[in-house]
Amino acid sequence: MAKVKKCVYSFGDGKAEGRGDMKALLGGKGAGLAEMTNIKLPVPAGFTISTDVCAYYYSNKRTYPKSLAAEVKKALKKVESAMDATFGDPKKPLLVSVRSGARASMPGMMDTILNLGMNDEVAEGLIKKTGNSRFVYDSYRRFVQMYGDVVLGLKPAHKDEIDPFEAIIEAKKSQRGVHLDTELDSDDMKDLVGRFKMAIKKRTGHDFPEDPMKQLWGAIGAVFGSWNNERAIAYRKMYDIPERWGTAVSVQSMVFGNMGETSGTGVAFTRDAATGENRFYGEYLMNAQGEDVVAGIRTPLPISDLAKKNPVIYKQLDSIRQTLEKHYRDMMDIEFTIQEDKLYMLQCRIGKRTAFAAIKIAVDMVGEKLISDKEALTRIEPDQLNQLLRPVFDRKEKDVAVRAGRLLAKGLNAGPGAATGRVVFNAPDAEVWKKRGERVILTRIETSPEDIKGMNMAEGILTARGGTTSHAALIARQMGKVCVAGCSALEIDYNTHTMKVKGRTIHEGDWISIDGTTGEVMEGKVDTKPSEVLQVLIDKSLDPQRSQVYQQYEKIMRWADKYRRLNIRTNADQPDQALNSVAFGAEGIGLCRTEHMFFGEGKIGPMREMILADTVEARKAALKKILPLQREDFEGIFKAMDGRPVTIRTIDPPLHEFLPQEESAQRKLAQEMGISYEKVRQRVEGLHEFNPMLGLRGCRLGIIFPEITEMQARAIFEAASNVQGRGIKVKPEIMIPLVGNVKELIHQETIVRRVAGEVMKEKRTKFTYLVGTMIEVPRGALTADEIANVADFFSFGTNDLTQTTFGLSRDDAGRFLPYYLENNIFAQDPFVAIDQDGVGRLMQIGVEKGRRSKKDLKIGICGEHGGEPSSVMFCHCIGLDYVSCSPYRVPIARLAAAQAALSKLPD
Ligand code: PEP
Ligand code: MG
Repeated sequence: MAKVKKCVYSFGDGKAEGRGDMKALLGGKGAGLAEMTNIKLPVPAGFTISTDVCAYYYSNKRTYPKSLAAEVKKALKKVESAMDATFGDPKKPLLVSVRSGARASMPGMMDTILNLGMNDEVAEGLIKKTGNSRFVYDSYRRFVQMYGDVVLGLKPAHKDEIDPFEAIIEAKKSQRGVHLDTELDSDDMKDLVGRFKMAIKKRTGHDFPEDPMKQLWGAIGAVFGSWNNERAIAYRKMYDIPERWGTAVSVQSMVFGNMGETSGTGVAFTRDAATGENRFYGEYLMNAQGEDVVAGIRTPLPISDLAKKNPVIYKQLDSIRQTLEKHYRDMMDIEFTIQEDKLYMLQCRIGKRTAFAAIKIAVDMVGEKLISDKEALTRIEPDQLNQLLRPVFDRKEKDVAVRAGRLLAKGLNAGPGAATGRVVFNAPDAEVWKKRGERVILTRIETSPEDIKGMNMAEGILTARGGTTSHAALIARQMGKVCVAGCSALEIDYNTHTMKVKGRTIHEGDWISIDGTTGEVMEGKVDTKPSEVLQVLIDKSLDPQRSQVYQQYEKIMRWADKYRRLNIRTNADQPDQALNSVAFGAEGIGLCRTEHMFFGEGKIGPMREMILADTVEARKAALKKILPLQREDFEGIFKAMDGRPVTIRTIDPPLHEFLPQEESAQRKLAQEMGISYEKVRQRVEGLHEFNPMLGLRGCRLGIIFPEITEMQARAIFEAASNVQGRGIKVKPEIMIPLVGNVKELIHQETIVRRVAGEVMKEKRTKFTYLVGTMIEVPRGALTADEIANVADFFSFGTNDLTQTTFGLSRDDAGRFLPYYLENNIFAQDPFVAIDQDGVGRLMQIGVEKGRRSKKDLKIGICGEHGGEPSSVMFCHCIGLDYVSCSPYRVPIARLAAAQAALSKLPD
């Protein structure tokens, strides 16, 4: 790591050294604070230590650049003069918060410390100044609690243990005979400070530092350190956030929401983050500090209440909401504090939202002329569209459940959708249960960032405490999980793994259903039905005029189609799949895997006969039985695609995949076919290969058994001519798999073209068709110039190309790939996102060489990567003509292709 030129960026007094577009350097939080300062919003002064320092810290054995200490000192002086207070001075004490902030928001994953700078002397000084000793000792105990946890490491020892600090507070409350934290008085708080410090010393061996500067450096180190804590790493993996980005650290002077009833704190979104509705959406608590709202310890009040309780502050806040939306032209997530009737802004960043909200906000903002349609397209994560296709509860089923008295409780509708699963009470159990194939609802009193992996495994999340901006709600929305939060009727007991509600006891493993759109919690399973978008597009059971969600979806798709350059096709091998994909916007079939057709009703028998045949004649006889079945399949597909191109691949997998491997099934087959079990067994054994993926498969099958290619070509062309005869256009494209040498393609192409000629002659008709190849082994890509002389088109089979480039078995990688990913040996699963440096490089060579021989060579991709947004972007960049993906990913690919066309090359 080179020298860091400037480590620290100050803000305060209406001026900031940073700006809103400096997220990479200052993190989202630092950039937001700088920008809000620059537009003259009330922001307490502070400074941000840049992400460059974080990078330096990790590449220099957790040390800092030499200039950092002096820069921090200087910046602190500026804060002191802006706030007219001095760090560590009991007469005019300055307290600060120390917070993390990465380029992408990672809510709650890293650490934060509030009220730093406090010690016994400062506390006494503050009491003199404020005359409010309860507030001072409440702030002090919060500081010791956070510092003790984050910097000195006093945490629960195992999953069922409650937080040790909370345990001390609970003991204190029961000793005093009170229920709420707010009922503890100043002496109680002071006593807690002492008890906390003792517990820290006893369990961690650390003395609590009294020197504020020592506290500050401890906190800075802990926040940088938290970039690599377990939950931050898990979160980065989940959202593909690069490790090299690092976090910034923002140090900001404290303002206090816990100074009494004229003080408070809140979190809000400038629009509804769950539905996208244009209304102020958020929560606040009076006499509280920030973590009380998000941690879900007390259930806060809706922001609309503030309009009644304190109309002046509400008006000011609402006007800031409008200023921010106009300035950022996006929905913002804000944090504010009211200190003795004065409003301060502590954070503003682009708000996380559900897919429903993302689409509604994008479409509405175009209508409000805040953004263009191009910008609207960049506001939606393509993968989020999945949420729109997810099931909802069947209204009738739900009514039945409610009438049967199964409605247990109602909480806050924090993450829309329907989820049914078995109750588990902690995150590790959610992971274990999910791994053994169970669907679970993670049910917690409140969630904490440690729960992130378990939350990801759950169908839905249910909490007893916390509001719609609580950690659970925030994370659930981002993950697209169904979530009901703050369901206070639940009495959850972690020790017995049970919860009591409505006089009933629900045990771990019992089924419940939660409706994240209404907040209802129901006992047992409730059936679901397709989402509104599917009801319109696929079932045709809903009038598009009656579905706002569908209309918004349709608008986004229309805009996407206007800007994308890539064509979108689908991988489908049945007429119903083809029809669905057209409803989703597919413009053709990019891969019809003919072997899938053989598994259909009545088809596997003749197929097995063909495989078991030991003479060419016997094989031809069996193929004759398959021919009409295949022809019928192709007719169905051509009809469904109604003139759109259909790429049909000749048979690809090793033949043994079609034969039963177990003795009982082999005996049954022998009986059905009227041959001996021994014959079946011998043939299956004879087909055994040590490495079937590199064995007799792909074009090799059609070369060794040309009669198979011949039959398939005939079925395709007869179907084409029949469908064409009925006045429907057809565009067949025959694709030969696994070609590594041009002669393989020539061999197969010759058969296909001969059969095409024969069928045209027999049927006295003409049709157009193409013959192309898959590029899915490295040699195919490296000799693409030779292959392109013969092929009409290429389609990258990136599943096999990944397998063969890495020498990594598609079927066996599951054994070690997770380890590779967890330990950062691979940044991403190469079977999910194209490995651009290796596989992608081969694709680029394939494109360049192919088009050198044939300028207008049509090139696409049909591996699974064709529906993965970063891979779609890559395909756009290297000049492919189309991507092909599974039907349900077509909308994602359409949006990703538009985003690719609208963006510059990825960095
Ligand atoms: C591929 O290899 O990418 C491909 C599409 O073919 P299959 O997955 O059927 O091997
Ligand atoms: Mg393949």
